[in-house]
Amino acid sequence: MAFIALKMRKNIFVVGLALTIFPNLCCSSGNKQVFSESKLIMGTVVQMTVATRTEQEARSAMQEAFAEIERADGLLSSYREGSLIAKLNREGHDHKVPFEKDIFDLMDEAATMSEASGGAFDLTIWPVASLWGFDKGGVLPDKGSLEDAVAKVGYRNLHLDKKNRSVGFHRRGMGVDLGAIAKGWAVDRAMARLAARGIDHAIIDAGGDLRISGSRPGKGFWRIGVQHPREPGVLLLTFDLTDTAIVTSGDYERFFIEGGVRYHHILDPVTGMPATGCQSVTVLAATAAEADAAATAAFVLGPERGISFLRSRPGVRGLIVDADGALHWTDGDLEKMARR
Ligand code: AMP
Ligand code: MG
Repeated sequence: MAFIALKMRKNIFVVGLALTIFPNLCCSSGNKQVFSESKLIMGTVVQMTVATRTEQEARSAMQEAFAEIERADGLLSSYREGSLIAKLNREGHDHKVPFEKDIFDLMDEAATMSEASGGAFDLTIWPVASLWGFDKGGVLPDKGSLEDAVAKVGYRNLHLDKKNRSVGFHRRGMGVDLGAIAKGWAVDRAMARLAARGIDHAIIDAGGDLRISGSRPGKGFWRIGVQHPREPGVLLLTFDLTDTAIVTSGDYERFFIEGGVRYHHILDPVTGMPATGCQSVTVLAATAAEADAAATAAFVLGPERGISFLRSRPGVRGLIVDADGALHWTDGDLEKMARR
């Protein structure tokens, strides 16, 4: 499967699967076979591929792993009225909202990324993100509403109470949006489920947020394709990888074009406007949550500051396609690993 492109209305596309897996769907090696399933969750196609001895083992493990991603969606989506984050966004100024440990830790990781990126990634982007409404195709906000929304963004005004494991806002009108980290986090959780079932060769891909464990039976690696940001269905390059996460953020995932200008869903918290320096950012890291958040942060920072930021993080590497289509790499070794 290369990608999906849903034409939602004139000039509006939602394109999933920024990275493409080349799974061994038909073949077995030794006593392991490869099985694959996909589901539409978190507004994207989630594809799982696992290597197991029996089909039954694969199907029941994947069912559990999919349930983990569905749980994450139910809790973390700012758009779902019944979610924990929607509750926080309604009530967080009036009183602190209690969180379960794993979700509190995710909030903490997102707040740490906000600080580390100097606010380029900001988990309190919701007032701005909700105004753009990219979940429904997107609209260009008027200047006054955008200025009001930008004034409400600021991770420093989020109160993470570690002792009571609760979260609140110092300012009225604030809101949390975990859209830039939640898919990666969910993928990590799902992979942990597979690992708990003894599956150590697998790929989980949530629309370009991938976690990879082990390798394709008989091959020694999984081949992963990175989507070309301007040519739907065409791969920019491929990597042969084992045991890593690889995540791409791109301006082609959710966007609309108006007056010849592309407006997309990765927003600069300072201006409230789509960030302009990059077409896509691909990040490799130990966890998909970190790769996801770091890719969004680097996208907002732009090619030069983005590469420095990625280099500053231990175990993180990546590449940036800038606004002119030129490639920037964190290191020559990664560049050598890429096949074009
Ligand atoms: P990603 O596709 O991982 O780069 O995440 C993009 C999503 O994260 C958007 O749809 C918004 O929900 C949210 N988002 C947009 N801009 C930012 C930002 N600067 N910091 C944090 N989250 C953001
Ligand atoms: Mg992200």
